[in-house]
Amino acid sequence: MQLDPLVKPRSVAIVGATDRVGPGRSVVESLGAIGFSGAIYPVNPKYQTVLNHVCYPSLTDLPEAPDVVVFSIRKPLLPEQVRLAVKRGARAAVIYDAGFAELGEEGARQQAEIAGLCREAGMPVCGPNCMGILNPTARVTTYKQTLMDTNGLAGNVGFISQSGSVVIAILSDLRRYGISLSVSAGNEAVTRTVDYIEYLIDDPATKVIATFTETVREPERYVAALDRAAAVGKPVVVLKVGRTERTQRAITSHTGGLAGESRVFSEMLRAHRAIEVADLDEMTEVLAVCQGERWPRGRGISVITGSGGLAEMILDNATAAGLDLPPLSGAERSEAEQVIGRITGDGNPFDAWGNGNYAVNLPHAMSVVDKSERIDAVVYCADTSNEGHVGHPGRVLENVKMLADAAKSSHKPYYLMSSRPGVMNAQQAKGMRDVGLVQIGGTRQGLGAIDRIGRYMMPQKPFRTSANRSGAQLAALLGAKAGRRTINEYESKQLLSAFGVPVTREQRVATLNEATRAAREIGYPVVLKVVSNEIPHKTELGLVAVGLASDGDLTHAFQRLQQRLERIEPRPSDAAFLVQEFVADGIEVFAGISRDPDFGLTLAFGMGGIAIEITRDFALRTLPLREGDAEAMIAETRGAAMLGAIRGRPAADVASLAACLNALADFAHHNADMLDEIDLNPIKALPEGRGCVVVDALIVARPQRKGDA
Ligand code: ADP
Ligand code: MG
Repeated sequence: MQLDPLVKPRSVAIVGATDRVGPGRSVVESLGAIGFSGAIYPVNPKYQTVLNHVCYPSLTDLPEAPDVVVFSIRKPLLPEQVRLAVKRGARAAVIYDAGFAELGEEGARQQAEIAGLCREAGMPVCGPNCMGILNPTARVTTYKQTLMDTNGLAGNVGFISQSGSVVIAILSDLRRYGISLSVSAGNEAVTRTVDYIEYLIDDPATKVIATFTETVREPERYVAALDRAAAVGKPVVVLKVGRTERTQRAITSHTGGLAGESRVFSEMLRAHRAIEVADLDEMTEVLAVCQGERWPRGRGISVITGSGGLAEMILDNATAAGLDLPPLSGAERSEAEQVIGRITGDGNPFDAWGNGNYAVNLPHAMSVVDKSERIDAVVYCADTSNEGHVGHPGRVLENVKMLADAAKSSHKPYYLMSSRPGVMNAQQAKGMRDVGLVQIGGTRQGLGAIDRIGRYMMPQKPFRTSANRSGAQLAALLGAKAGRRTINEYESKQLLSAFGVPVTREQRVATLNEATRAAREIGYPVVLKVVSNEIPHKTELGLVAVGLASDGDLTHAFQRLQQRLERIEPRPSDAAFLVQEFVADGIEVFAGISRDPDFGLTLAFGMGGIAIEITRDFALRTLPLREGDAEAMIAETRGAAMLGAIRGRPAADVASLAACLNALADFAHHNADMLDEIDLNPIKALPEGRGCVVVDALIVARPQRKGDA
């Protein structure tokens, strides 16, 4: 659907236009204020004119078909008026009023009716339950609020929000960037966030896209749009709310219960190079950083201050947030100290107070860190008050000049940072903008924004190319026994080991005689388990016996398990016994696959055992994996330290674990259409050089639709 008539209309009709204070007046006023050069058509049977424009009694009386009709009328009047708009050939609509899908079923039905009319007519629609669209670059607006001052409104930030109040919040501070397009998308009955993103990707005025999102509609299109935005180099900054986990989902595996919606969404964003933020402070700092002429090309930040206290606070915050503040090298320190005098701490943050000769020390500090190849961005942290109550008058522009001079002989970005978000001197912020530099605010939010853009600018690792194996095996297994969902440990391991997943040596047997023969072949000690597709979790039913050291142990265990099996009602038709090697040492970890209804398969890795559901210490990635993902996943779990050498115990074989994760991901990716979940729980990570081994596996197949192979 063509969005132009909606986002940059050449004619605007306002149904419900009025002289009285309210949106029906604001839009007409704002169109004047923004310098709209197209036709304005107020529509209201009660008026001859509205603010000196001819007012038409009905949409049918308009002299031409308008590009967009703004409906500033109450909900009950909408269906009839929308019909008239369609009849008059209107090309788009903005519907302010609420009371639709956000209220429940009846509202959803009414919304669907209006949406149906518009969709059939090929009309894009903003709303209902929205505040409209502001397009300062095209000098047109259907935004509900009155424009008071259009100076500095136009810029390069394209903003799309499902909440009108958040649009107000963003428009309430435009000191550091302007707007190329601002959309209050409301209920998105017809036109959705993804439509606007696609438009902004192609919009030459837009350099960065930001969204406030409650619901992602059409996830596949959304992901494709993120990829396209990344390909053209426009960051998409996403603030996603409503992240409570979906509870009603059929889950068999442990992994399936872990990978909730919100974690998956975050990983999806990361995989597709979108920038996630948690609140509006974080978002606005990222938008500010995007205004710089240069963007950081990596994550290394040097923070220069004149304050030991600030330096300590920043270091604490930066460390907690995982920011990269590389310390000064020995050579850099001595070069700095020659001029500045003694430097406390490790030099990042760099307290450049030293001998107190500010005017010399600060530029010197900057010149030292600028040369460091570990530094991608230079930040000077200093506070000047919002309104200039204190300080000396020339100070704000001295700061600007100092940074501008330092930046001149560099190819790195420079920032001025106030220690609190939002507190900044407008003159100073403008001064920075004028020289292509950026004022940021809030040590956490400001530095976090530099870090986010730094990450964004770093080249992404390529997707893993795995050995090309077919999914035929799983398909064959499922085809033979149609309708079945879980695949038992033995068969799961066979499928997985064909992809290079290391599994225990084991044999499936039916009788004690066979079991004994198998145990002698494998070598004691062994483990005996019951295997059945109908028993996905064995321990709960007492169907696992570990550490069996002799024929005698095995015999006892066999009898015990057999008795327990006989008590299970109804008795599983496919039950058999599994004799497997007992893996005595090693650290238990787990890996698993689960399916998100919107974004497909994900891989989880964490510290193993039953505690995982309580500690929730796991890393997550969407499939397919990129190079290095598996290693990074292992490193980023809180429990990763457990895999290192501790108290005389050797370090675990992390490289083989990574290989195992990659093999699992390959299997899942190749069989994506047939899979819902996989648990490898536990995997035993053995000491370095001895690899790792999967001791239990469970595959949950995806119910196949009729007609599928
Ligand atoms: P469940 O179906 O209950 O998950 P498992 O096969 O995972 O059953 O066995 C339960 C526990 O027994 C495992 O978490 C692990 O600690 C231990 N275990 C199972 N198989 C082995 C083995 N081959 N070697 C060592 N320990 C094992
Ligand atoms: Mg298990």
